[in-house]
Amino acid sequence: MNRRLFFIAAAAFAVMLGSAAGAQAEPMKVSASFSILGDMVKQVGGERVEVFTFVGPNGDAHVYEPTPADAKELSESKVLFINGLGLEGWMMRLEKSSGFKGTVVTASKGITPRKMVEDEKTITDPHAWQDLANGKIYVANIRDALIAADPDGKAAYEANAQKFLDGLAAMETKVKEAIAKLPLERRKIITTHDAFGYFGAAYGMEFIAPEGVSTESEASAKDVAKIITQIKKEKIPAVFLENVTDSRLLDQISKETGAKIGGTLFSDALSPPDGPAGTYLDMFRNNIETLSEALSS
Ligand SMILES: [Zn+2]
Repeated sequence: MNRRLFFIAAAAFAVMLGSAAGAQAEPMKVSASFSILGDMVKQVGGERVEVFTFVGPNGDAHVYEPTPADAKELSESKVLFINGLGLEGWMMRLEKSSGFKGTVVTASKGITPRKMVEDEKTITDPHAWQDLANGKIYVANIRDALIAADPDGKAAYEANAQKFLDGLAAMETKVKEAIAKLPLERRKIITTHDAFGYFGAAYGMEFIAPEGVSTESEASAKDVAKIITQIKKEKIPAVFLENVTDSRLLDQISKETGAKIGGTLFSDALSPPDGPAGTYLDMFRNNIETLSEALSS
């Protein structure tokens, strides 16, 4: 083989290697229902995937009005990631109107759902992502779904998922350490809606909320009165606002009880990327800092 031919052969081999390693021209389009899930898909998908998120930063995923632009994005997506557990009541309508033909992946598949009684009905708590052990299950489901949709990217998705899982495990240790430092009598707090049941069960805190697990219905006067009595009786130290809910109700509860406002927790949405909770991991980091600062003394 002459020199020139050798170089051509070597170049052709490099191209073949490139495609074998999963180089692709265009990223695969996928959709995610809300910002927290969207970030998880981005972490696992990396450069191979372009993620469109319907409910963006600080948005409320319980109640959402899909737009024509959402329907267009979904129609072009190969995979749709949803939380499931009854979070996205608006998704069925969007799926129908978009003519979506891809695969629907329920990221929470395999977690143990938290059931609770609300207004004498047993309902499922959708906020499973607030327990990092569940977050790991979400990541595994996302990884497997991306591999199924884009087998050439298997190695990349596996590597990205492993890196993300390591990050989740490290954060889990941090969260447990931070909560363990809080005095036991201060581990009971108020938020607007019941978004932290999984967090509380996993890490040993109690969260009480005037609104239920959805933001769809407002708290009744009776619920608010009950909580005010409870805060006074049990000397609950603080109320925490949420990035997805109106602060007026908790401002009022704080005024009437003397419980201080401990800060803002990120419950059902991330902050914008340049904010304090632009990723799933930063959301935990920020929430832990906020809880620790307000409750440690
Ligand atoms: Zn919620």
